[in-house]
Amino acid sequence: MSALLIFCHDCGKQVPSSQTKGGYCVDCQVRRSVTDLRDEHARLWRKRERYRATNANVDQIARQIARVEDRIAQRIKELVPNDREAVEHLRRELEAARGQRYTLKK
Ligand SMILES: [Zn+2]
Repeated sequence: MSALLIFCHDCGKQVPSSQTKGGYCVDCQVRRSVTDLRDEHARLWRKRERYRATNANVDQIARQIARVEDRIAQRIKELVPNDREAVEHLRRELEAARGQRYTLKK
């Protein structure tokens, strides 16, 4: 039996229907599920850079950032059962989160 291919509703990529949920491919499911955490991550990251510029103690913010990253990892794990793939998704989301701080304006 050949897999049924559908177009992801978000990115338009063609993916086997077995890998989609609600019409979205795994990439988009992950991206959409962590959007709020990614914004939070970017916010904290900017805050840390502001604090650092004034030589303030940034340990607490660093811990907050680590917590947000843990929560991102958790959500990805719920969507991606395969460990290796989950790690790959996490790496990409964190990269995106870190890149986002340059584009997001206060
Ligand atoms: Zn997609």
